Amino acid sequence: MTDPKPVQRLKIFGREQPASRPAEDAPGPESGDNPYWSAEEPDEHPDPSLGCIRRGLCCKSSPGWYGPGELEQSAQALGMQPDEFVRKFLVIDGIEFEEKRVEVFAPVKLDRFGKPAWQPGTRVDALYRTLRGVCVFYDGHGCKIYQARPIECARYLCTQPAEQNMSHLEVAALWAGAAESDAP
Ligand code: SF4
Repeated sequence: MTDPKPVQRLKIFGREQPASRPAEDAPGPESGDNPYWSAEEPDEHPDPSLGCIRRGLCCKSSPGWYGPGELEQSAQALGMQPDEFVRKFLVIDGIEFEEKRVEVFAPVKLDRFGKPAWQPGTRVDALYRTLRGVCVFYDGHGCKIYQARPIECARYLCTQPAEQNMSHLEVAALWAGAAESDAP
């Protein structure tokens, strides 16, 4: 068996970004048939102790944000170069963090016609941020890049208390830390 191709990292802040978490640490997809999957959103989670049962509620409304060094793994999962991947599938969002604006990458949301609700590869505005839209990587049954999904997605569980899920501010802190460590 040949070794997998090395991940080509995107240069941000002038240097290559380390991954927020190693790809091999990413949890794998649930195996086998999912008896709880339903195209319709159930009113209640059938068994919260199961954790994520891939209802896709989060993927159908607000895609999670990438941490530094992660989108390269998603690009590789789809056999793409990082810059091509950004131009085709991601938008640049941002948030105020410690009195500075921190920008992050996020999968683009699709509109009701299945088209990107915003031009990929560009910065979104405040209105886009409030829109609910299906993530470009959601295929109706799960995530097309599950093994290499953004850290905010990987940490999110709709059944756990909100404070246990990763917040946008926590993702911003990762980017701020990456920028700081790159400062001359
Ligand atoms: S990247 Fe994957 S897990 Fe995250 S919102 Fe999109 S489809 Fe869901």
